[in-house]
Amino acid sequence: MANVAFIGLGNMGGPMATNLVKAGHAVTVFDLAPAACEQLREAGADVAASAAEAIAGKDYVISMLPAGKHVAGTYLGDDGLLAKLDASTTVLDCSTIDAATAREVGEAAAAMGIGFMDSPVSGGVAAAAAGTLAFMCGGSAETFEKAKIILAGMGKNIFHAGPAGAGQVAKGCNNMLLAIHMIGTCEALEMGARNGLDPKVLSEIMLASSGRNWSLEVYNPYPGVMENAPASKGYQPGFMVDLMAKDLGLAGGIADASGVDNQMGKLARAIYEKHQGEGNGQRDFSSVLERYQD
Ligand code: NAD
Repeated sequence: MANVAFIGLGNMGGPMATNLVKAGHAVTVFDLAPAACEQLREAGADVAASAAEAIAGKDYVISMLPAGKHVAGTYLGDDGLLAKLDASTTVLDCSTIDAATAREVGEAAAAMGIGFMDSPVSGGVAAAAAGTLAFMCGGSAETFEKAKIILAGMGKNIFHAGPAGAGQVAKGCNNMLLAIHMIGTCEALEMGARNGLDPKVLSEIMLASSGRNWSLEVYNPYPGVMENAPASKGYQPGFMVDLMAKDLGLAGGIADASGVDNQMGKLARAIYEKHQGEGNGQRDFSSVLERYQD
């Protein structure tokens, strides 16, 4: 059992912190939203009045915040949490943020002798609740060994991607590829349907052929092909277009900063941002199929 502070109890952080309580850890939580804290109190956590109060004397500090500016604001500077922690604490930021901020926080932590790991997740709210998230970690091997103990209470697959920032790079690579194969799957299915093929039969053919991919296998975007996919439930998320657009922006930043020619990623980003701008932000990302049907 470990003493854990958990900061950021939204759609993802709430169920993740709850799973740590269920795993037997002593969890102290903080969120700017009092209602989110109350839910965790009911689940068995202690509630702190501030992030600084939550981290006092803890073995682990975990955060699940919206974006890089929230993570930088929480950890850096004279008033930031790093300045208040002692070197025995392990800090795990599970938010999806830009790799540059993750590296900056990692380097600031390292300079103080604090183990920091960017640990973004794959898997949405359902995986957070089920405790089946995948974690992509960036930090030292020593910090990774400590991180695994606690991340195992929230997820199934825990990967060490490399040094600080590498978790965010891995997440950017994965979600850029996800967007590209989702869009490609939509185009292929619509092309088949317009030429008289049953999307279900075409899906079976491609699944047994070289077009096989995750979107086709577990998340078919064509309504009615897969009973439990968001496409068959009016594109209720699932994984929202807003989040995909955010992740493609972060992936684009990584590609540009490293000089990678990422035409497919840029095109996927433009398609998702257009879809988002037309009122689809809160719908599942597989609703991009409808762009090909109009
Ligand atoms: P959310 O908006 O539901 O939750 C964020 C929480 O952080 C809110 O409760 C907010 O009050 C709190 N918060 C913001 N600033 C704070 C601060 N300074 N101190 C304390 N609390 C603060 O977001 P979410 O859906 O839980 O996503 C969190 C992160 O996980 C994001 O980076 C997102 O990209 C990533 N993510 C989300 C999903 C998903 O399906 N929702 C999947 C994978 C990754």
